[in-house]
Amino acid sequence: MVQTLKKFGKKILWCLKIPYLPEVARALVKGPYTVKFPFGDTVDTGAYRGAPVWDEDVCIGCGACYEVCPSDAIEMEDDTGSSPPMRRFVLHYDRCIFCGHCHYNCTTEDGICQTREYDLATFDRSESVTNIDKELLLCEKCGGVISTIEHVQWVARKTGPKAYASPTLALTLEGELITAPQAAGAPAEEIDRSDIMRILCPHCRRLVVFKETT
Ligand code: SF4
Ligand code: SF4
Repeated sequence: MVQTLKKFGKKILWCLKIPYLPEVARALVKGPYTVKFPFGDTVDTGAYRGAPVWDEDVCIGCGACYEVCPSDAIEMEDDTGSSPPMRRFVLHYDRCIFCGHCHYNCTTEDGICQTREYDLATFDRSESVTNIDKELLLCEKCGGVISTIEHVQWVARKTGPKAYASPTLALTLEGELITAPQAAGAPAEEIDRSDIMRILCPHCRRLVVFKETT
């Protein structure tokens, strides 16, 4: 009986919001906890993630950020019809969930970083984007996309002397990188041994090696 009365008393106090009275008194004296954003200043606590942005000098256009983005906020398109051919990235802030995966998985570590910018509200969603373009490297035989020029150069530098095992990387290291306008787009059957020291996509490279060994 006593226990039941105690429980009933607690419920009455809870219903009357008595436990909250100190908070109510504080709010009456000091004002509300919330801020009048966007009409008032916000407090920078330092514990939040803002808009991701690309660094033109550090990004190599490899596309890893596009691959890992969980909300499809990053679009990537290889435009082989333009001169020069370009890989184009667009990041839509209205789809971004600010998870940071693009930064954590970036090949060069800081090609894309999250800023402290959080005020991204707009009446026009088409304005809520950022973009970056990188020049493509195309296969000299078939014209297929290998990757961006900066990506291949980055791989060649990382590989060091072992890059000479790959003619494409070796040509990059020697500064003889041939870009898309020279891509021949020749049928695969026209590939022969003399093509071995060309910049080739993996498919054409396999055909050349096959002809070399048969
Ligand atoms: S922060 Fe997350 S959701 Fe936003 S672009 Fe990067 S990976 Fe995509
Ligand atoms: S270098 Fe980093 S930011 Fe640039 S495309 Fe690759 S993963 Fe994305």
